[in-house]
Amino acid sequence: MDVVPVSLAGRSYDVTIKRGCVLDDFAHGASEYFESYRAKGAVKARKVPVVADTNTHLIFKAALEQSLASEGLAPDWFVVEPGEGAKSWAVLEQLTDWLLELGITRSDHVIALGGGVVGDLTGFACAVLKRGCEFIQIPTTLLAQVDSSVGGKTAINTRAGKNLIGAFHQPAAVFIDPMVLDTLPDREMRAGYAEVIKYALLGDAVFFDWLSDNGTKVLAREPDALAHAIATSIRAKAAIVAEDERETTGVRALLNLGHTFGHALEAETGFSDRLLHGEAVATGMVLAAQYSARRGDISQEDAKRASTAIGDAGLPANVASLGITCSGSALADHMRHDKKMEGGTLPFLLLKGIGQAYLARDVELADIAEFLGEQLGAQ
Ligand code: ADP
Ligand code: ZN
Repeated sequence: MDVVPVSLAGRSYDVTIKRGCVLDDFAHGASEYFESYRAKGAVKARKVPVVADTNTHLIFKAALEQSLASEGLAPDWFVVEPGEGAKSWAVLEQLTDWLLELGITRSDHVIALGGGVVGDLTGFACAVLKRGCEFIQIPTTLLAQVDSSVGGKTAINTRAGKNLIGAFHQPAAVFIDPMVLDTLPDREMRAGYAEVIKYALLGDAVFFDWLSDNGTKVLAREPDALAHAIATSIRAKAAIVAEDERETTGVRALLNLGHTFGHALEAETGFSDRLLHGEAVATGMVLAAQYSARRGDISQEDAKRASTAIGDAGLPANVASLGITCSGSALADHMRHDKKMEGGTLPFLLLKGIGQAYLARDVELADIAEFLGEQLGAQ
């Protein structure tokens, strides 16, 4: 078992990574968070609010019910449709109304059981409910396990874009059971793996080499390899978040490696199933590596190594093969509205080497447009 502390001033919490910590003995491991439910004499006494989507509800209902029953508790379910649509004002309103009807107090812990969508929605609901109540993350996708469940970013989407309404609100605890990934579709598994490669590329060359040798095992969900990949990723994320909780010093920005390019690709494909977030980030990291090589920050060989790692994982390494028909400048235009844009330049996460990301502040968007044009034309 690994317990990774996320050390934040006045608000530290543990990430538990252990096979079975959710499916076998969640109620036992999380027992301390259920005190308030045990103490209540209300109608809903001994009922623990759990937010899930229809898939995670169906798959994990029995296991969670059984586990909570061992502590004399039962889940009270709030189930949303799978997909980004659940991160909306409408669903947020239903969820907060439901929680208020239950009589949730600030010391009660709400459980988020699902991928990034359920985690972001539940986290944001808990951030605003009575000016902040507690929540516990049980991430069930690889992406949520290695990235979105830790760090306290919560949000919903609006017409103007993704994650534009949100808050920093840290969970009280995160329970990661690699076993829950057994049912995750392979495509979602690969998409989450892109974020694992991200930690290696941005700051850990040793991990990059390890992934080159063991990536297939991670994707095949071999217990030891999977646990190592998750724990290494979480340790990296915890260290970055502890240093820069609210993305004010530039350290947390490192986590955006591949994301500015990736966001443009997601926008161009309409944030649809055509290109999952992790897939867009994968291609985005290859583009960041290639652009770094183009300006002479890294060798072509290193750029090739990054692209091979991504291609070998079955992720889209070549932007030209995505079937995007727009021009380089149309793609770059999606970056123009980025919050960080200043004058004609945009701070960009680039590579000085494998395992050495840095924030370049001199990147002209016009040059990015030209580069993207070259890449879109290259087969
Ligand atoms: P992400 O974590 O990548 O943001 P989502 O929350 O959108 O992703 O989840 C991706 C999809 O995977 C959803 O359809 C969700 O219901 C499904 N899902 C989540 N966890 C599991 C699991 N452990 N097994 C099977 N499907 C899952
Ligand atoms: Zn991401």
